Amino acid sequence: MKKTVLVAGGGGFLGSHLCDRLIEDGNYVICADNFYTGSKDNIVHLMSNQRFEFIRHDITWPLYVEVDEIYNLACPASPIHYQHDPIQTTKTSVLGAINLLGLAKRLRVPILQASTSEIYGDPLVHPQVEEYWGNVNSIGLRSCYDEGKRCAETLFFDYHRQLGVPIKVVRIFNTYGPRMQIDDGRVVSNFVVQALRGHDITVYGDGSQTRSFCYVSDMVDAFVRMMATDGAVTGPINLGNPGEFTILELASMVVKMTRSKSKIVHKPLPKDDPIKRKPDISKARKILSWAPKVELEKGLLATIAYFRQILKTR
Ligand code: UDP
Repeated sequence: MKKTVLVAGGGGFLGSHLCDRLIEDGNYVICADNFYTGSKDNIVHLMSNQRFEFIRHDITWPLYVEVDEIYNLACPASPIHYQHDPIQTTKTSVLGAINLLGLAKRLRVPILQASTSEIYGDPLVHPQVEEYWGNVNSIGLRSCYDEGKRCAETLFFDYHRQLGVPIKVVRIFNTYGPRMQIDDGRVVSNFVVQALRGHDITVYGDGSQTRSFCYVSDMVDAFVRMMATDGAVTGPINLGNPGEFTILELASMVVKMTRSKSKIVHKPLPKDDPIKRKPDISKARKILSWAPKVELEKGLLATIAYFRQILKTR
């Protein structure tokens, strides 16, 4: 049975790839986005599809639609964007969760929350397991996002316990690929664009901080697997690629792969920048039979090809 699926934030980087996958699987997709960080370019190829419908909508307001499943991917996710209007960022996470959970409750349908590794803050446990409660600053520059997403998790679990809403919470670690925004300040897009333009590669701090990079198709596959689990599976489940790289290693790889003449330069480390981040994905392996398949080098190739194309039009 094909389903009607709501993707909130469907015009964004992850959301648009999820819309593609759901359409490919034969579903009917309702994509809601206010284009705060999402873009029409990401979904323009779906607009003429009979099974795709777009609604311009901000999830801090209630949404009335009839669907079989809900994915909540609506929130600016890069530090530059979520810090631009921090009050709105918290509202998007908290009010957005309340509105979409209300919809899930009325329709009695499963709802997946795109939570984040940021809920672990600057972690003191490495790699991060789901049982770790995190090390989060409640009043810092990242707090609007971190605490907003933490409160959204609280709401999801309370709607589940108190009202029986079927919830699926996934904690997404750094993800990259085509359709990342050129100017969102994320490390992969920054480095690739800088290398292609022949600009300096800006490594913040000494570059010894680590991240784990998951390619977007692997991430979307995990979302779909999570949604397909039975009602007893609520998460939270970590999703990400456990391969760990220093930021300096990433910079060197990008320079080499683009054959760029760019120099690596160092800039100050942003405040509250986590020193280490790497997911423990044992739960995802066991419960979803999932592990990332795309190696960093292969994913970077596709990402470089995408930005090469985008830069031609700028
Ligand atoms: N970073 C960097 N240069 C850049 C952008 C980011 O060195 O031009 C670093 C940043 O300080 C952080 C890591 O790369 O340590 C990942 O940053 P990103 O903003 O992509 O994600 P997050 O900090 O949320 O993991």
